[in-house]
Amino acid sequence: MAQQSAEQMGINFIPGVEITCERGIEPDNDELIRQNRERASRSWHLLAYFPGLKHNSEAAELFAKWLEPLQNNRIPRMKKMIAKLAELGMPVDYDEVAKKAGGSIGRPHLAQAMVERGYVETKSEAFERWIGDGLPAHVAQPKPTISEAVNMVKKSGGITSLAHPLYYGIPPDKLAEYCRNVGIDSIEAFHRSHDDEYRFQLWQACKGHNLEVSCGSDFHGQSYGHNPGKMAVPMNDLCI
Ligand SMILES: [Zn+2]
Repeated sequence: MAQQSAEQMGINFIPGVEITCERGIEPDNDELIRQNRERASRSWHLLAYFPGLKHNSEAAELFAKWLEPLQNNRIPRMKKMIAKLAELGMPVDYDEVAKKAGGSIGRPHLAQAMVERGYVETKSEAFERWIGDGLPAHVAQPKPTISEAVNMVKKSGGITSLAHPLYYGIPPDKLAEYCRNVGIDSIEAFHRSHDDEYRFQLWQACKGHNLEVSCGSDFHGQSYGHNPGKMAVPMNDLCI
C-alpha cells in the first residue's frame, strides 16, 4: 500500500523496518548529563532498509520469517499492558488503541489513548509514569541483540542504520566505534530530536569511523506534530 501511494506521488520508495533490539552498550552517565537526559532507553532501534528488494524474493521471505515472531508478539503484549492498566484503575479498550495504530500497534498508540481518556496530560507522561520500560504497566517484549538483527538484515540484502542515538546515552565517538565493530552501516545522525551540535558531532564521528549517516523524520503518526519528509540532510552524505 505504501509503495503504491509513493509511486502515485512520484516518491522513491524504499522498503524498511525499525527493529527494537537489546541495548548495544550500557549508557554513559556523563553523556546522559551532557544531553540533559534522566535515563537512557532500555532498547536500541535498528533501521533496516532494503533498496531493490523484490516482493516474494528469497531474501524477502527469509527476513519476513525471522521478523514474524517479533511482530506477532505486538498484539498479545498490548493486551497484557491494557490489562495492567485496568488493574491500576485506568481502563482502555483494545479496539480504541488498535484504531489509532492502523497497522503495527505499539506503546505510542496506547499513550495516545491514555491522554484521550484523561489519565495523563501528555504521551510523555504516559511513558514516564506508566508504560515506559520497567514501569507498572509495562510488559517486556522479546528483543534480538543488535548483532543478531544486523546479521539477519545483511543476509537478506539490506543495510542498517542505528536510529535516534540521542536516547541511548553513548558519546558519539564511542557509538560510531561500536557500530563499526558490529557491522552497522550508518547512524541516523539527522533525526528531528538532535540539535545542530549533536548532529554535527555524530556526522563527524561517522566520518571518522567510515560509517554513513542517514536521515529520518521518525514519523509515527500525526499526533506527534511533525510531518514525514521534512528533515533536511546533505544528499552527498546519505548512504542510499
Ligand atoms: Zn525508534
